[in-house]
Amino acid sequence: MAKITLDNLAHSYLPNPQSEEEFALKELNHDWVDGEAYALLGASGCGKSTLLNIISGLLIPSQGRVLFDGRDVTTSPTAERNIAQVFQFPVVYDTMSVRENLAFPLKNRGMDAAEIKRRVQKVAAMIDMEAQLDHKARGLTADAKQKISLGRGMVREDVNALLFDEPLTVIDPHMKWELRTQLKKLHQDFGHTMIYVTHDQTEALTFADKVVVMYDGRVVQIGTPQELFERPAHTFVGYFIGSPGMNLFDAEVDGSSARVGDTVIPLDGHFITAGHTQLGVRPEFVRLTSGEEGIPASIKRVEDVGRHKIIRLDVAGREVNAVAAEGEAIAADATRIVFAPEGINVYADDWRIAPRGTSA
Ligand code: ADP
Ligand code: MG
Repeated sequence: MAKITLDNLAHSYLPNPQSEEEFALKELNHDWVDGEAYALLGASGCGKSTLLNIISGLLIPSQGRVLFDGRDVTTSPTAERNIAQVFQFPVVYDTMSVRENLAFPLKNRGMDAAEIKRRVQKVAAMIDMEAQLDHKARGLTADAKQKISLGRGMVREDVNALLFDEPLTVIDPHMKWELRTQLKKLHQDFGHTMIYVTHDQTEALTFADKVVVMYDGRVVQIGTPQELFERPAHTFVGYFIGSPGMNLFDAEVDGSSARVGDTVIPLDGHFITAGHTQLGVRPEFVRLTSGEEGIPASIKRVEDVGRHKIIRLDVAGREVNAVAAEGEAIAADATRIVFAPEGINVYADDWRIAPRGTSA
């Protein structure tokens, strides 16, 4: 296991990049703490695989260094990094049996037969393929082949890190949950440094201790699921995480109050802003009221989604969402919305501003 350091790292697929836009991965400095489980979350094309492939050595970055426990491995081949990587689509040897496929990374390292047998059996149970161990990989479904790929990634206990690049994409939905649980258990048992790439927030939030959110080639926030929910560092995090995502309101902020349209909203703390200023308020912190205070709003519809209701509102021609608990009554005569003060975040040019005198 290792601490992985990214030092001034950046990557462009072009030979002579001229501007920041030409970098698939913008400059990044980060330590992946030894033994933590991370999710790397972001929309398709934001640079997740690029970053993962630089860590694994499939790609040499155009700028900066990768260190494993302080040792520079930037140009070392994958084999020397002692990591396991599982990709989106299966990589299996068709002519080998399931057992031989799973044993391959161990045999390669000259492990003794009894130990190989033990590990293979254990991993086969984790991926629910004990009954097919002696079947040839050829002829198995894509789903089963991907489980073998996952098993091969999990079979070694001595790796520096385990990297997963959207490994459950081709897996059947109910099996996804099962495999994710197994991966989590593997992490608890062995404490490997794990990086799990996904574009699915549920997967990221249930798997990881820390979620690394990427947007347009940039890491915009690294935090616990709770931090991403309560204090999104960038409007993208607010919008991408949560369902529905965070509401944004153009605002003029003056110290400890904001003006949205004609409504003055008190803020928790004192803010100094410049640029395009917005208030971000998650639907969970929006309340409907029939009083005189608040921003004028009208209810368009109410969606019952099991444990809570989503209220779709029209605010000056734009959609705003509120969430109400299952048993909570929704005032049909509500004409305005108000915000819980602790649920208001202030943004300037998409980045969150902390209230003055705090670092939160
Ligand atoms: P993600 O894994 O988040 O979907 P990628 O890291 O694959 O994103 O891609 C990031 C950006 O780099 C995208 O704009 C993609 O088109 C581009 N890109 C990825 N691989 C290559 C490549 N081999 N050559 C040129 N551009 C690439
Ligand atoms: Mg990718």
